[in-house]
Amino acid sequence: MLKTTKITDPELYEIVEAELERQKYNIEMIASESSAPTEILELSGSVFLNKTEEGLPGKRYQAGSEHADRVENLAIERAKEVFGAEYVNVQAYSGATANYTVFNAILDPGDKILAMRLDHGGHLTHGSPANFLSKIYKYEHYGVNLETEIIDYDDVEVKALSFMPKLIIAGASAYPRLIDYKRMREIADKVGAYFMVDMAHISGLVGAGVIPSPVPYADFCTSSCSKTICGPRGGFVICKEKFAKQLNKSTFPGILGSIQLNGIAAKANMFKRVKEPEFVATMQRVLDNAKFLAKELEARGFRIISGGTDNHIVLVDLRPKNITGKEFDQALEKIGITVNKNTIPNDPASPFVTSGVRIGLTAVSERGFGPNEISVVADIMDRVANNIDNEEVLDQCRNDARALISQFPLYQEGYFEDEVTIPQHI
Ligand SMILES: *Cc1c(COP(=O)(O)O)cnc(C)c1O
Repeated sequence: MLKTTKITDPELYEIVEAELERQKYNIEMIASESSAPTEILELSGSVFLNKTEEGLPGKRYQAGSEHADRVENLAIERAKEVFGAEYVNVQAYSGATANYTVFNAILDPGDKILAMRLDHGGHLTHGSPANFLSKIYKYEHYGVNLETEIIDYDDVEVKALSFMPKLIIAGASAYPRLIDYKRMREIADKVGAYFMVDMAHISGLVGAGVIPSPVPYADFCTSSCSKTICGPRGGFVICKEKFAKQLNKSTFPGILGSIQLNGIAAKANMFKRVKEPEFVATMQRVLDNAKFLAKELEARGFRIISGGTDNHIVLVDLRPKNITGKEFDQALEKIGITVNKNTIPNDPASPFVTSGVRIGLTAVSERGFGPNEISVVADIMDRVANNIDNEEVLDQCRNDARALISQFPLYQEGYFEDEVTIPQHI
């Protein structure tokens, strides 16, 4: 794929090759990651990159838009079909940008938003003081019940009634359970708030139909494209038809400049794949593997937040092992497994240290891991946790992890072997 770069910019080529090597032999368990199929890689680098477009298909500001319109319309139609959506805008540059386009469509400065706490699994764009929107909107946050570690819907209702938000957000980055969208919608209706679901993490599972969809309940659903849905970098927004005009205006010229047509072409392919039997089977394997990993880790003395999982995420409390999230994350990285440290509800440790890790099953399930491999992973994780400073054991774990992942190629053999052809300009 990097035929000419290999010759004209060997320094950069070497870095890309090194990253490919890393990905090939690393057991990827960061919950927000997935491996894009080769179609997505190809389309992300297609000639649509050269085309500048502003506005919507049929209403562009630029000439020469015939094929640009076709590709964006195709992405929109496929997305609508996958999610049974009334309206979809596929232009957002990312999941974060998708959220901004919704806020900007329906809120004025000073308006109030009720969303999930960051340290209970919410997202930075849902009212973290570190995000610029905290200067523009007013936020209140709900969390999980500390005993069950499940969203405390009564707390959501109490907070909604006292805070009277204009927007209620469901959706999270580190929440392993299904969300009761019906209950959230009822609460939103009670206080006359808009209801948005940020399904950034779970849109692949939703699209494949292996977990319930928020689309019938929400005024807006936003998503990233690079998490369980296994697409390119990017975002999209689903809404009820009655909000379409506002959403489009907010997206452009409200927030975006020219669109990323190469990304939109890749999104069109992503939406095509979501309903194909192979992808549905992968998403089912993600769920099965996550449930099984939770059981296997629990059997080895880890504590699983909320007692299990209904999605691709396993949140682990490491306190029974007397190690921190930071220590475990770093030790696993050394032996070729990537996860990320994560706060757990009511975490006594700082967000930089944490008492937990978040483990995601998407990437390994794409590569074909099943119960046998998950057992081996749980075993390696246990040995690492119990021998965090023992270099000899860690070396064995590194060999075992590499032997395991080597059986599951990241991409088809030979796909990246670049034939060297000397380009004309040399
Ligand atoms: C990851 C995430 C986002 C941001 O998505 P990007 O594509 O990384 O911008 C937004 N919301 C939630 C809940 C997320 O987990």
